[in-house]
Amino acid sequence: MARIDLHLHTTCSDGSCTPAEVIARAQKANVTALAITDHDIVTGLPEAMEAGRNAGIDVIPGIEVSSRHGTSEVHILGYYLDWRDPTLLAHLDGYRQARHRRNPLIIEKLRALGIDITYEEVKTLAGTDAVGRPHIARVLMDKGYVGSSKEAFDRYLADGAAAHVPRELPSPAEAIQIIRAAHGIPVLAHPSWVDGKDGIYALCAQLKDAGLGGIEVHYSTHKPDQTAQYLDTAQRLGLLVTGGSDFHGVTKPDIEVGTGRGQLKVPEKLLEPLRAAAATGR
Ligand code: AMP
Ligand code: FE
Ligand code: FE
Ligand code: ZN
Repeated sequence: MARIDLHLHTTCSDGSCTPAEVIARAQKANVTALAITDHDIVTGLPEAMEAGRNAGIDVIPGIEVSSRHGTSEVHILGYYLDWRDPTLLAHLDGYRQARHRRNPLIIEKLRALGIDITYEEVKTLAGTDAVGRPHIARVLMDKGYVGSSKEAFDRYLADGAAAHVPRELPSPAEAIQIIRAAHGIPVLAHPSWVDGKDGIYALCAQLKDAGLGGIEVHYSTHKPDQTAQYLDTAQRLGLLVTGGSDFHGVTKPDIEVGTGRGQLKVPEKLLEPLRAAAATGR
């Protein structure tokens, strides 16, 4: 049955499938429209749009930007943005530079723990300028230090783990503003990541004032009560409802394009309000 998927990563950031491979998987899953939302980079969009045209899949230009709110990492998705806008590209370049400042510090910590790894190896595996912790996790997997990406995060890379180093991040309001300035619709990604059970409504109300346009209500790991809670929050605040799998390939092996862990089905009808909001700048 037809569905959409508005949250997908490719080899241009920390995914392990090329944009064309993501489109091929989407076609198999009967996905009719999708958004490529790589972290801090838009280089996958031309290939994705070309493959989408050939497959009859509507490809929406997207981005995912990380921000920090208190102790939480808050990720903001941006849809239908002017992805060639020079100011946007300059901001994204700045975020990638912050990655290149942090990543070698993680490598230093790993080396101090006796692990044989260099940043050169990580950059070679990544093959893109948007280098993230999942790339480090993959090198650790390839070298046999860990059995899975989850183990790499749990033991070394997650907040509080042995080799964690925080990244300089914008505030959620800044991330929202940068997407709005490029005429994109900013959407709160995976709200379940935000600390504090009842903090979501307050956070979304605050972020709406800063220009937030929607909430990612449907997500691979959301339980039915979470989906219901976020849907209620979106409706009460007049925010758009979106959804996506957050497909990454090998670093999240249980999550597939379009279907997530098997239960995900983002309704096609959510696309038109998002498109209309982008067209009218609301
Ligand atoms: P970074 O952008 O380099 O700070 O790395 C964060 C990224 O790592 C997220 O966007 C996810 O793709 C991924 N990630 C975070 N936690 C985990 C985890 N426990 N297992 C696998 N991937 C994760
Ligand atoms: Fe990621
Ligand atoms: Fe995210
Ligand atoms: Zn993501």
